[in-house]
Amino acid sequence: MSEVLNSYEIVVRKIKEVTKLLGTPSHIADILSKPARVLTVSFPVKMDDGTIKVFEGYRSQHNDAIGPTKGGIRFHPAVTFDEVKALSMLMTFKCGVVGLPYGGAKGGVICDPRKLSQAELERISRAYIEAISSIIGPDKDIPAPDVYTNAKVMGWMTDAYSRINRSFSPAVITGKPLIIGGSKGRNEATARGCMYAILEGLKYLNISAEGATVAVQGFGNAGQNAARLLNAAGCKVVAVSDSSTAIYDANGLNLEEVNRVKEQGSLADFDRSRQISHEELLALEVDILIPAALENVIHENNAPAVKAKIVAEAANGPTTPAADRILKEKGVLVIPDILANAGGVTVSYFEWVQNLMNFYWTEDEVNQRLYEIIVQSFERIIKNAEVHQTDMRTSAYMIAIERVIEAMDARGWI
Ligand code: NAD
Repeated sequence: MSEVLNSYEIVVRKIKEVTKLLGTPSHIADILSKPARVLTVSFPVKMDDGTIKVFEGYRSQHNDAIGPTKGGIRFHPAVTFDEVKALSMLMTFKCGVVGLPYGGAKGGVICDPRKLSQAELERISRAYIEAISSIIGPDKDIPAPDVYTNAKVMGWMTDAYSRINRSFSPAVITGKPLIIGGSKGRNEATARGCMYAILEGLKYLNISAEGATVAVQGFGNAGQNAARLLNAAGCKVVAVSDSSTAIYDANGLNLEEVNRVKEQGSLADFDRSRQISHEELLALEVDILIPAALENVIHENNAPAVKAKIVAEAANGPTTPAADRILKEKGVLVIPDILANAGGVTVSYFEWVQNLMNFYWTEDEVNQRLYEIIVQSFERIIKNAEVHQTDMRTSAYMIAIERVIEAMDARGWI
C-alpha cells in the first residue's frame, strides 16, 4: 500500500479539507488539528507473580467548547499516542454530528488483556483511573468502554473514581453494569444505531430491507449485534467473519448456528465448505457491507473490488482516504463511522443523563430516542451532502465542525 495510514494524519487531512470547504480562517483548522489536552501516565502494577510492571497510558481531550469531553478507554498492546489523539478527534466530530452536548476524548493503556488475569486487569484499571482522576469527572470528561474494555472494567473504574472523591459518582463513566447506573440498551446501542442508519440508507437508495443482503466483517459486539438486528429487520446476512476466517452462505446464514460456533471458539470451527477468505468477503455481491473490526481494512488495493451498494462503517476508520475516493467514484453510499457507530456514544449520553437525574428509562424509551437522533442526523447529512454535492463523510464533518465553531465563537475563543 502506498498510502500514509497514520490515523492522526488522516483526521487532520480531513479537518483541513472540510474547513477549506467551509471557507473558515486557517486558525480554525489549527485549533481543531490538536487536542486541547493530552495526559501521558505511567504507573506501577503488582502482578500475580509478585513482580512489578510499569504500564503506560494516555488520555486525550480534544475540544470541550460544546461541553465535557467523552470517549472510550482502549486496552490494547498496539495503543499509541497518535491513535488516542486521532480517536479523541473523531469523538468530537461524532458527538457534533448527532448533536450531543459533548466534545471528544479518548484513552488507552498499552497492555494485552488476553495475557492478564482478572485481578491484574482490575489493578491496571484502578491505577489508570487514579493516574488520570484529576482531569476526568461528570462535568469534565466522561470515559466509556472501547476495544478490550467492558462493563466490568467500567464498574472497577467507577468505584476507583468514587473512592478517590469520597462520593459515589456513577455519571463519571458510562457503559457500567446496570446495577450501578448502566443504561438499558447500552450493550447493543452501537449496532442498533448502525442498523437504523442502514435502514435509512436503503430507503434513500430505494432498496427494500426485506431480503437485502449483508456481509459483516468482525463478529464482536458491534458486528454480531448488527447481524442479529438486521436479520430481525428482514435483511439476509450472507457472510460474517472474525479474525480466524470468513463464512458465506448465499441463502443466508443461520445466525443461531453461527453464534453457537463462535461461543465455543472461533468461526474457523464452522463447516469448512462454507469458509471464504477475508478478502473474498469484502468483494461479495451484497447490498450492504459492514466493516466492524479494524481500521484501514478497505484500502486502495481492495476498494475497486467492493460490490456493495452501501458500506456502513460500524468500526472506526475502516476506509482509507484513497479507498473513500474509489468508492465515491463507484457510486457506493458510504455511511461514515461518525454516524454509523454513533449509537454507542448516544446511549452513553442517555446513561449520563439518567445518572444525573437518578431516574431510569425503559429499553423502549432508550431505543426510541436513539432512533430519532440517528434518523434526524442521517437526513441532515444527506440534505447537506446534496446541497454541497459531496459525500456523506464530508457532509457529516461539515455539520460537526460548524457546531464546534459556533460553540467556540459563543464562548469567545475565536
Ligand atoms: P470486539 O472486540 O467486540 O469485536 C471485534 C471483532 O473483530 C472480533 O470478532 C474479532 O475476531 C474481529 N476481527 C479482528 N480482526 C479481524 C480481521 N482481520 N478480519 C475480520 N474480523 C476481525 O470489538 P467491537 O466493540 O465490536 O468494536 C469493533 C469496531 O467497532 C472497533 O473499530 C470499535 O472502535 C468500533 N466501535 C465499537 C463500539 C462499541 O460500542 N462496541 C462503538 C463505536 C465504535
